[in-house]
Amino acid sequence: MSLNLSELWFDPGLCLIGGEAVPAAEGRLLLENPSDGSRLTEIARGGEAEIDQAVEAAHSAFHGEWGSVTAVERGRLLMRLGRLVQERANDLARLEALDVGKPLRQARADVTALARYLEFYGGAADKIHGETIPYQEGYTVYTLREPHGVTGHIVPWNYPMQIIGRSVGAALAMGNACVLKPAEEACLTALALGALAAEAGFPDGVLNVVPGIGSEAGAALSEHPGVDHLSFTGSVATGTRVQAAAAENVIPVTLELGGKSPQIVFADANLDRALPFLVNAGIQNAGQTCSASSRILVERSIFDQVAGRMAAAYRALSVGPAMSDPDVGPLISARQKGLVSSYLDQGGEIVASAVLRDDLPHGGHYVAPHLLTGVSPDHPLAQEEVFGPVQVLIPFDSEDEALAIANGTDYGLVASVWSRDGGRLMRLAKALRAGQVFLNNYGAGGGVELPFGGRGKSGHGREKGFEALYGFSSLKTVAAFHG
Ligand code: NAD
Repeated sequence: MSLNLSELWFDPGLCLIGGEAVPAAEGRLLLENPSDGSRLTEIARGGEAEIDQAVEAAHSAFHGEWGSVTAVERGRLLMRLGRLVQERANDLARLEALDVGKPLRQARADVTALARYLEFYGGAADKIHGETIPYQEGYTVYTLREPHGVTGHIVPWNYPMQIIGRSVGAALAMGNACVLKPAEEACLTALALGALAAEAGFPDGVLNVVPGIGSEAGAALSEHPGVDHLSFTGSVATGTRVQAAAAENVIPVTLELGGKSPQIVFADANLDRALPFLVNAGIQNAGQTCSASSRILVERSIFDQVAGRMAAAYRALSVGPAMSDPDVGPLISARQKGLVSSYLDQGGEIVASAVLRDDLPHGGHYVAPHLLTGVSPDHPLAQEEVFGPVQVLIPFDSEDEALAIANGTDYGLVASVWSRDGGRLMRLAKALRAGQVFLNNYGAGGGVELPFGGRGKSGHGREKGFEALYGFSSLKTVAAFHG
């Protein structure tokens, strides 16, 4: 299925730089529909030249009109953008479903989240302020929270709208000017949002969007000496490169990377409540979620019961093209399907898998969701991020053992505990190595209000909530001697 270009309010084949839609010197790239492998449209192949122009445009905006826009007015602009997003909710959801292969319902939820981020950061823009600090006699000391200047945002393909909402939304609220590099596999909603930002009244150059290949546009943005802060969401391998580039320019960087997030289910848990969370956290967005819960640790006495109930849920899952709104859509690409399939070849016993219908579009990248067991905690399936609809069930015999398994990977993004024992919940909330811990629920990243980020190889820095506003600002201390 290809796009009806006459329905769009932006040209997907162009970059958005300084308020203009401009072609890329390197031409265009093909964008595929993951549900059937067909050509969706063509996008600009932005590179060094376009990144240079975009950074220059952002720099001019920051030192020009944007720099004098008040916090109240920045908040109003973000709110206005949030309303435009809601007005275009169906169009945006359809674009995301076609581009990412995300089932329509999940794409609609992402639009709602994007609008919420814009509303939240719009409301917060004029509520961030410095402090006064008691100091020596004769001094008044206070702090100011100032924008960094030009912020670079490198975004992956799995949740474009949500990730742009949380990073660009917070950066704009603090008064930064942004250069956004969406993923080459899915960039339509990024361009759509760039065009809506102009409609909302953001001055030219405040939000620039340069689609392109990671090693070209992404590398050019992360290495650019005119960028003052980088926000990167993606894989550990690329995050390492982006951090090295940021180090060369001595600028701050936020890394939101992968995960191998556990849910720990004790025998006293409310299983009726837990079951939907256990399954959904593994199969949402076909498991291509940084905070997917790919490890389910279950107390041995209820292991068979949990395995049986999850297996029944797996067998009932529908898999199909995004626009038919199944439980599970295709993976983003043939490459991703190959990666996930290679993990499924590495062993483990299949507890249950969903059925792939014979009539699925031939060119779509479908993988049946798999629930596995029979792997030790140090097996690659229990250690590495599969990034597909695959969960492993691991039994444990004690709280200490559960904690050791849960904390026993290189990652530390999200964890959850299911139990009715309040003391145990508190102990584990403290001892789990993760940026977010859920007790008797699982948030897969949580709401817009909840700070989010990793420990270890899941990255560092926090986005979402008020915390993100601190990251997107620089603290200045002013010490005034007045005698
Ligand atoms: P990726 O690292 O391949 O790509 C992410 C982005 O980086 C894309 O825009 C890509 O074009 C760009 N990029 C690629 N090479 C680059 C380079 N050399 N320099 C600069 N930029 C470059 O990751 P992916 O496969 O697109 O996304 C999946 C990964 O993202 C998973 O590991 C997942 O866990 C992670 N992720 C994390 C979060 C989070 O919030 N922690 C959220 C979503 C995804």
